[in-house]
This record gives sequence, structure tokens and C-alpha cells, in this order.
Amino acid sequence: MNPCRCGQATEPGYVCRRQPNERCIAQYQARLSGPLLDRIDLSIDVPAVTAADLILPAPSEGSAEVAARVAAARERQTKRYAALRLDGVTTNAACPPALLEDVAQPDPEGLSLIRDAANAMRLSARGFHRVLKVGRTLADLDGEERVRRIHVAEALSYRAHTDRRPAAA
Ligand SMILES: [Zn+2]
Repeated sequence: MNPCRCGQATEPGYVCRRQPNERCIAQYQARLSGPLLDRIDLSIDVPAVTAADLILPAPSEGSAEVAARVAAARERQTKRYAALRLDGVTTNAACPPALLEDVAQPDPEGLSLIRDAANAMRLSARGFHRVLKVGRTLADLDGEERVRRIHVAEALSYRAHTDRRPAAA
């Protein structure tokens, strides 16, 4: 989505036509309800592309490499839930909440981070579980058995934007 109705409130040097940028952002984004935003796990700011960006060298990891990493992560997940004899569950997204705190249990540093963040960001129970699921998937993408602090931190960073919105509105 755009950051505001004019579409450019977060561009450096841009001044919204209708009202101060912060209010323009808050008013526009308040159109999405908190419960809806709570179901969005990955929120990333995408700045406008400039002419200079277009001549940058290609990223070091190409689409084929990323696709292989994703396929490997999905296979880890399929095997995990098959081993737990969960019929029909092949992804972390579909993991039942009762099992999640076992399957996606972060290491002690990760656990203390997500507990602190749950308070500071006022995560709902759903939000807490969804951060665990994203963290589990990030660990799977890294090929790691255990969800570590770095995975929890990344999962939280994708959530930060949506959780700030209801407070700003
Ligand atoms: Zn605006």
C-alpha cells in the first residue's frame, strides 16, 4: 500500500498536500483495522526507485539461488510435520498453536528478546505466535535446527510497522 493518500509521505523532502505528513499517514493507514494488520506478517518499506538505482549491479544472490533456498526450507518444514504425524500440515504457517512453542522455541537469547518485544510492542497472542512462525521459517531458510535471536529480531522487524500504526492513528 502507499504510505498515505498522496502516496509520497515517506519520501525525503516531500510535504503532503492535505495535512502534515504524520497525520496524512495516520489517517490513511487507519483505514485498515488493527485485527486485519495483525494478520500481516511481513511489512517492508519500499522506497521509490531512482534513476541511479537502475544502474546498480545485480544483487549477489540471484532468483534461482533464492528459489533453491526456499525449496530447501519448505522441504525441512514438510519433513518436520510429517515426523510429528500432523496430517495436512506442511508449513510453519499451518502449525497448530499448541505445537508452535515446541517447534519454534527460540534459544534463550531469542526467548528473552521476544518476551521483551511482546510487552514493548504490545503483541497480541496471535501476533506473538505469528512472530514465532516467521522466526521458525527464517531459521529454516538458514538451514538451522534452532530459532536464534537473530531470527526473532528479523521476524519482529517485519512486524514493527504494522504494530505502530494503530498507536499513531
Ligand atoms: Zn499524504
